[in-house]
Amino acid sequence: MMGTIHSPVGIDITCKTWETEALLRLLLNSLDPRVAENAQEFIVYGGTGKAVRDRKSLEAIIHELTHLEPDHTLLIQSGKPVATFRTFPFFPRVLSAAAMVVPQWATWQAFNELEKKDLTMYGQATAASWAYIGAQGILQATFETMGEVADRYFNGTLAGRIVLTSGLGGMGAAQPLSVTMHGGVSIIVEVNEEKIKRRLLNNYCDVMVSSVDEAISLAREAAAKGKSFAIALLGNASDVYFECLKKGFTPDIVTDQTAAHDLVNGYVPSGLSLEQAHFLRRKKPKSYLELAAESVVGHVKSMNNFQQRGSIVFEYGNNIRGQALEHGYSDAFSFPGFISEYIRPLYCEGRGPCRWIALSGDPNDIYKIDDMILNEFSADKRTERWINFVQEKIYFYGLPARTCWLDYQERSQLGELLNHMVASGQLSAPVAITRDHSEGSTMSAPTRETENMPDGSDAVADWPILAGLLNASGGASMVSIQHGGGVGIGNSIHSGMTAVADGSLDSYEKLKRLLTIDPGLSIIRHADAGYETAKSMVDKLGIKKPL
Ligand code: NAD
Repeated sequence: MMGTIHSPVGIDITCKTWETEALLRLLLNSLDPRVAENAQEFIVYGGTGKAVRDRKSLEAIIHELTHLEPDHTLLIQSGKPVATFRTFPFFPRVLSAAAMVVPQWATWQAFNELEKKDLTMYGQATAASWAYIGAQGILQATFETMGEVADRYFNGTLAGRIVLTSGLGGMGAAQPLSVTMHGGVSIIVEVNEEKIKRRLLNNYCDVMVSSVDEAISLAREAAAKGKSFAIALLGNASDVYFECLKKGFTPDIVTDQTAAHDLVNGYVPSGLSLEQAHFLRRKKPKSYLELAAESVVGHVKSMNNFQQRGSIVFEYGNNIRGQALEHGYSDAFSFPGFISEYIRPLYCEGRGPCRWIALSGDPNDIYKIDDMILNEFSADKRTERWINFVQEKIYFYGLPARTCWLDYQERSQLGELLNHMVASGQLSAPVAITRDHSEGSTMSAPTRETENMPDGSDAVADWPILAGLLNASGGASMVSIQHGGGVGIGNSIHSGMTAVADGSLDSYEKLKRLLTIDPGLSIIRHADAGYETAKSMVDKLGIKKPL
């Protein structure tokens, strides 16, 4: 029997190679209770996003990885290990597919039935690809989004501005800190007091209140002084948004990050206490869904009303607009999604998310990499600001890790530099390199990553599959193909990849290819869709693109 799950640390390994050891450590790290939202049920984040099917699967995966030969590949089918085959040393050690279903079955109802029969597993995005590193992973994307909003509307700062949002879960917790990083004030509505307490403990929020009036008055006071302040408001977002409107309170920015992509498991309907919600969800899921649908429609209507009153409103990648539309609110898409509005210009330039994890468990390895980044990429002022801020604000849970958005050239340079740092003994052990699935070419999601593509290719899901296949061919240590991450079943197809810098020449060659493929395919995908910036990047960088 296994007790609490923690990744091993240090330089002694139980697997036959560091490549496999890295994957084992990442898996165990994502299930560490300090990292996962609900480790006991193997739920890592995002509603019910799991890393493995169940305990039996976890034990079997650990066994397989521990015994895996350097020229073998383990296959994972929706969180369950199903086979090991002999392949080649340069090929991935783990290939995974999660939550993939034939399109006509891609509904929550059909999916839940399959999951109940233990045939599939919801893997969110980085949960099933064992690449989750806690809230820091999403923090920089949120930091970039808020920065873009600040640049576009408020002269580059959120000082004196109030953001109203909700959800303090695995992803949502990045919101208050990102607003703080840009000098602003946030009110984050969260229905679960335990989640708030967790975020207060690690300084993501400054205070908890349970009255809307108190939240508004504290926010106004801080904004008037130009002070950053993060207020967690215990309550139901649907109710609170409505109440704010009734009170004539118009925040500068409004968004939401409840897990609305899954109304039954991730969204608490208005009028229910948390305990009542737990009970009803289990006993009467149909009634629960009806209540949640009604509540989500009201929630999105309020967001629309805020927009009409002058707030800057956007969906934060949880498909709340899609849910409201599906349940009868035809104006649900009156406000935009954050990717098409604020992140896509970055994808067109090949800028995107990258993260690295110190397999040693030693935070100093990450700090040494931070210093290297600050030296080598000193021209990148956004990166400099980011690294300086997270160094001060984020402490590590589980394996120390860093996430950072980097551009085309920086990414392949990063692989080379990290591998050199391992080879030369500057770092105490190898480093895993992975990323969010929410990259320029690796997620097709018509209400998020690929919303409003200029050529209408929103629902074309060839790109993430090509990205996954190419990453496997380029020497990734793990590649996963998944469905339903972020925006829920039926709404996305995406892929992830993980590589390892172990200081070897092989690892150098793999990283050089892999960290060119990711940003390169992002540029190609956007050039193909007609974006001029991406087309000029193709020319400028000499990326080969037929036609
Ligand atoms: P989570 O399940 O960990 O947290 C959701 C939180 O919302 C919970 O704390 C829950 O108590 C709270 N909540 C639910 N209903 C509420 C209500 N009516 N009022 C107030 N609080 C309520 O989920 P997460 O990992 O934080 O993800 C949030 C959403 O963002 C998901 O839909 C996820 O798919 C999506 N997502 C966004 C991005 C992004 O790029 N922004 C990335 C991945 C996922």
